[in-house]
Amino acid sequence: MTTTALNWTEKQNRLRATTDQPVALYLHVPFCHHRCSYCDFNIYAGMKSLYVPYIEAVAEEIAVTAARVGHVRVPSIYVGGGTPSLLPVELIGGLLTAVRTFFEVDTEAEVTLEANPSGLPAAYFAQLRSLGVNRLSLGVQSSHDDELYLLRRGHSFQEAIETYEAARQAGFDNVNVDLIYGLPNQPIEKWRATLERVIAVQPDHLSAYSLQMEERTAMLRWVQNGRVSEPDDDDVATMYELAQDLLNRARFDHYEISNWARTTHYASRHNLVYWRNEPYFGFGCGAHSSFEGKRYSNVLHPRDYIERIQQTGAAVVEEEQIDRALEMGETLMLGLRLIEEGVERARFADRFGVELDEVYGTTIAKLTAQGLLEANEGCVRLTPQGRLLGNRVFGEFLPDESQQR
Ligand code: SF4
Repeated sequence: MTTTALNWTEKQNRLRATTDQPVALYLHVPFCHHRCSYCDFNIYAGMKSLYVPYIEAVAEEIAVTAARVGHVRVPSIYVGGGTPSLLPVELIGGLLTAVRTFFEVDTEAEVTLEANPSGLPAAYFAQLRSLGVNRLSLGVQSSHDDELYLLRRGHSFQEAIETYEAARQAGFDNVNVDLIYGLPNQPIEKWRATLERVIAVQPDHLSAYSLQMEERTAMLRWVQNGRVSEPDDDDVATMYELAQDLLNRARFDHYEISNWARTTHYASRHNLVYWRNEPYFGFGCGAHSSFEGKRYSNVLHPRDYIERIQQTGAAVVEEEQIDRALEMGETLMLGLRLIEEGVERARFADRFGVELDEVYGTTIAKLTAQGLLEANEGCVRLTPQGRLLGNRVFGEFLPDESQQR
């Protein structure tokens, strides 16, 4: 692969001049029935009265953004939260109509909606399908009701499975199941049972994340006051290895550190945009966007968000210029999460006008010698050992913050 002659500014100008660049869309629904014990997301309970004005505000933000940025093509829409499935279906329809009115959505676009598996009926899922939602993400989390109670999920495993089956009955043929492992006092055999039970229902995609002790969560408070014990790092690593092993045997494609797809066809196209560090717009309170070398963040609270949108049509409270060094570092940090694909040399050279080894050759050689990276002609990727120490590897590629500003 030869290095292209374009410099950075020319690259950016060329990108700006392109009229059909793909941009993924994330729509944030910040409402939940209650807060789960481990959750630090930007979500709010007991705000039913805001559903309608909030969705109207998001539709307005979509319209204003589309007018500002001009023509872009949308390959994926992700309605996340929060609990989008709390919304009446017509409000979800309103969001998707706004997107289709103001952006050009690919006919084959992936349209995902996150749903809480707390007994939603097949009729609800049929309505979602008629709106063009073609992928569901269900937060099942565990197959044990005591673990679901510890997580304060508000549903049983039986309800989760019934919801999953209702979605299948309504015709959804692309369903993700989210799981959490590394819970306080979780024996590995319970994690094994969760994996086996979930594999048995044959989801198309599976995400498994280890429990993180986030600030201001009930779970962290319980650890701090001794009510539950902090999970042991070695046990958590063993659980991750077990997930790899069982899902590998069940012939799932392990395509990202924490994500498996039944076949590559079912890999999350929306999340691939993030992992490839490609552009996206986030709409709604607390949503982030990354577009043309800048990152934007919206105001957090839904009331403030509605007010700002009503007054100015925009809710951005932070704007960050992403310089070339940071963009390269983030491209490595995110791309290395992709197990097979890793960071492709050709894609990197095409995007930045410089070969990967010219920028990171020394770092790649060092991490390869440590057994954490594998470098071949086409790409650089994590080794199995590197997957367990991902954060250490990613840190090596980010520029020193003091040189950023
Ligand atoms: S349902 Fe999801 S977003 Fe809502 S509180 Fe629970 S973990 Fe957080």
